[in-house]
Parts: sequence; structure tokens; C-alpha cells
Amino acid sequence: MERIIQNQFIGTFKNNIQLFIKREDLIHPFISGNKYRKLQYNLSKAKEENHAALLTFGGAYSNHIAAVAYVGKKYGFQTIGVIRGEELLSKINENPTLTFAQQNGMQFVFESREEYRNRHEMEYIENLRQKFGAFYLIPEGGTNDLAVKGCKEILTENDAEFDYICCCVGTGGTISGIIYSSHVNQRIIGFPSLKGDFLNGEIQKWVTKDNWELNNAYHFGGYAKINSELIEFMNDFFVQTSVLLDPVYTGKMMYGIYDLIEKEFFTANSKILAIHSGGLQGIEGLNQKLEKLKLPKIITNV
Ligand SMILES: *Cc1c(COP(=O)(O)O)cnc(C)c1O
Repeated sequence: MERIIQNQFIGTFKNNIQLFIKREDLIHPFISGNKYRKLQYNLSKAKEENHAALLTFGGAYSNHIAAVAYVGKKYGFQTIGVIRGEELLSKINENPTLTFAQQNGMQFVFESREEYRNRHEMEYIENLRQKFGAFYLIPEGGTNDLAVKGCKEILTENDAEFDYICCCVGTGGTISGIIYSSHVNQRIIGFPSLKGDFLNGEIQKWVTKDNWELNNAYHFGGYAKINSELIEFMNDFFVQTSVLLDPVYTGKMMYGIYDLIEKEFFTANSKILAIHSGGLQGIEGLNQKLEKLKLPKIITNV
């Protein structure tokens, strides 16, 4: 998958900070940029090992579930998605992510939150093998050594001019690939979209450099937690730049970057590259949720 991804100039801000965004979201209209990269080498391995099926895990709005279903269909694998939340079984048609996955041929196993916690247990996986036969297992969020390998290709030689690289963090695979191919004089800042202190340790499994940090101030209460301030920021950003963000990952990162510029966190005159890792497929489903919560909706056209 050779792709030329453009860095788009967003603007010059306080203290002459210049902000650019790498448009990984343009890799595919429905499949997140980073999910594509994380799956690429896994698919080659699954083919090499003659697997007929892929099995993975995810929640109701999961970009990873959508991506696995799509690439499975495209490259001739059956796909099985173990989905967190048994109540979703009767609501597939109301959920755009699951509907898309199903249309791409994915079979589902709906699990209670309790059962879903067993997903790392050998015995649990063995039961799935009994039920479905052999499959190539892709962990939740898609992060493994081959996923990190794919994410090493996000940064290119031309990105050496940036002082800071900012990216979203879920399981830490994407930032690990970015850290790997960064230069030591560049600072990598990760914005976790979930609460918890385990991520530093996860990332340290994959990287040896120390030119990175996580900023935990912008998770908005946890994974897929959204408030009107975030939505309003994203909508303003979209009106000004025509770049659509998603509320689970890239919206929180960009909110954080703007806030940190305002608070003079970045050295004056520096250049920042923010990675737009995609995630736009989730917006439709999340807008339904926002409507129910009577919160402002995400604008998707101007
Ligand atoms: C999954 C995802 C991430 C997080 O990637 P990790 O490798 O799990 O840290 C970031 N941005 C988007 C849009 C995603 O879908």
C-alpha cells in the first residue's frame, strides 16, 4: 500500500506556531487511516498461513470492526467480530458501524461486558475456535507487532522538518510506529482518548526511544465520552478548515493542541504536525447518540 499522504497547512497561531495536519483520513472514506495500516501486514501473514477467516473484537462504534469487515471482504477472508454489549444483538440495524460490518459479510458474536473481559484468556479463544474453526486472531484495536510495523510508514522523510508530532492514542500501536520512525530531535505527543495509566507501559513494549510523552488532560472523561464543548470546538474547526474530525479520537487531540498552543506549551516558532488518523465512519452512529442526549450534533457539511 504505497500512498502519498499530504500534509495540509492549518494556520499560524500564537507565538508563531505553525500547525499542519497529515490527512491519513483520506486513505479511505470509511476505513480509518491507521486501521488500514495496522491491518496491512496482518493480512499478508494471514494469507501466507492460508487462513480463511479473521476474528477480532470491538465495541459499538469501533473503527477497527468496520475496517476488518471491509478488508476481509476485499481480500477474501470470512470475518468474525466479537462485539462488546449483548444488547446490540437486536439493534444492528440502528447502528451504522455494525450495519456496515454486516453488509461486508461480518458474522457477530455479541457478548455481555462480563464475558467480553475474558477475551484475552486462552480458554475463551479456544471456545471460539471450537465454534468457528481456525481463524487468524487480531486483538482488539488491532495492535500487535505487525500493526506497529505498518504504522512506521505514517511518517516520511519529508516530515523531518516538524518539531512536534501529535497523534491520538487508543491502544498505543499507532504512536509506537510513529515514535520508531521519528528523529530524536522531534517530540512526539500522544493524546489518549481513554482514562488510565497503563498506556505508557504498553508503548514501552514497542519502542526504545524516549522522545515522547502522553498528555492525559484531554480524554473528556474517557473512551467515547463527549460533551458539547468538544462538539462545538470540532464544528468550528470544520467550518474554518473543511477538515472533519471525529469525537472519539482526532477531535480530542485537536482540542488539546489548540489548548496547549494557548497555554504556551510549545516552543515559539515551532512547527507541529498533527496526524489525522481517520475515524470518520463512527460519526453517524455517534450523532444518533448525541441526538438522544440532546447535545449538539457534529456538522458534516457546510
Ligand atoms: C483506533 C484509532 C486510534 C488509536 O490507535 P491506537 O493504535 O489503538 O493507539 C486513533 N485514531 C483513530 C481515528 C482510530 O480509529
